[in-house]
Amino acid sequence: MDGPDAEATRLARARLPEGLRSETLAVRTALAPSQHGENSEGLFLTSAFVQPNAETSARRFAEMEDFTYARTSNPTVRSLEQRLAAMEGAEGCVATSTGMSAILLLIMGLLKAGDHVICSRSVFGSTLNLFAKEFGKFGVETSFVSQTDIDQWRAALRPTTKLLFAETPTNPLTEVCDIRALADLAHEAGALLTVDNTFCSPALQRPLALGADLVTHAGTKYLDGQGRVMAGALCGANRLVVDVFGPTLRTAGMTLAPFNAWVVLKGLETLTLRMKAQSEATLHVARWLQARPAVARVHYPALPSHPQHALAMAQQSGHGGAVLSFELRADSPEAARAAAFHVIDSTRVLSIATNLGDTKSLITHPATTSHGRLTEAQRQASGIGQGLVRLAVGLEHVDDITDDLQRGLSTLA
Ligand SMILES: *Cc1c(COP(=O)(O)O)cnc(C)c1O
Repeated sequence: MDGPDAEATRLARARLPEGLRSETLAVRTALAPSQHGENSEGLFLTSAFVQPNAETSARRFAEMEDFTYARTSNPTVRSLEQRLAAMEGAEGCVATSTGMSAILLLIMGLLKAGDHVICSRSVFGSTLNLFAKEFGKFGVETSFVSQTDIDQWRAALRPTTKLLFAETPTNPLTEVCDIRALADLAHEAGALLTVDNTFCSPALQRPLALGADLVTHAGTKYLDGQGRVMAGALCGANRLVVDVFGPTLRTAGMTLAPFNAWVVLKGLETLTLRMKAQSEATLHVARWLQARPAVARVHYPALPSHPQHALAMAQQSGHGGAVLSFELRADSPEAARAAAFHVIDSTRVLSIATNLGDTKSLITHPATTSHGRLTEAQRQASGIGQGLVRLAVGLEHVDDITDDLQRGLSTLA
């Protein structure tokens, strides 16, 4: 069937009925297929788009509609943006080249010299540096406060505060902050709340529904989910996404490559399945670790021993996520580091790698990797001891993961 009927069917199929659930939106939301009717979304590897005539070209450039040049937008990237927005319950989304470039876009689009930011001191290391160092030099001031003590956030407010930035749960201690309480605080002060939702993803946590104004993602982690590509995204209301961040991205060029967008687009189709399976496996490993004599403490939000357990369960759909950390018993920092290295080096299945959100389980020593550049005093203050080991649980059989940990735990000196 060719011609106008085929065209009408193609477009009608792309208009989904109202009220679909998140799992369905994750599989179905995208631009309409091309005239070829491909069932899996197309990958458009093109930097420019041919215009039908000069007048249409002029209009598209003036109104920023349709496709003109791929720094501005590309159909594969647009499909990813629509799908992720639907899953986050956001009006709009803009995809970026990495998780960090999403935060770069947030700051460049929203803030100017003299503006003030309040940020948890437990956020991702590069996020800390971007606020404190890179934007400090342009006159954007940032106060760093406790992840969990809302009074510190309130006390840090100034008349110039424009943005509160949170990430929950945090890496590697899985501390949880109260998104709704922070949103209320931000709005009373006339500021916006942005939440980095990388660790839970929209499969477990939807910050916008809890009052946050914006969500950022490292799509590199669970959205891709198989450790293949770098990607990022910023989701929120169109008055911010379309009117503020779109123009900044088009000018500054943190654009996501179409191939990476396509990989993440397909990753979203299995996101909910993976997050639930990996989260259940992580709870199993956390309970198992808690019962090992060599383990002093396990940090994981789904354990009742976690200080914000009830809040985490309410905020994260009853799941803990797929990252945990544990502390080994030792008499000194030197002995603690030796024990941690022994457990890590005794694994034969897990990957020794400082990443997360992969189907392959990853094990790492935060004190000498992600937090290696802190001084020992800063590390002590943030609770990252030499005996701490972080595990990002993947999709291997859970007994193979615990067997792999047991190799080192049962042979400690
Ligand atoms: C990895 C990560 C980032 C940065 O993402 P990249 O894609 O590596 O730039 C930001 N926030 C969190 C919580 C992350 O885990």
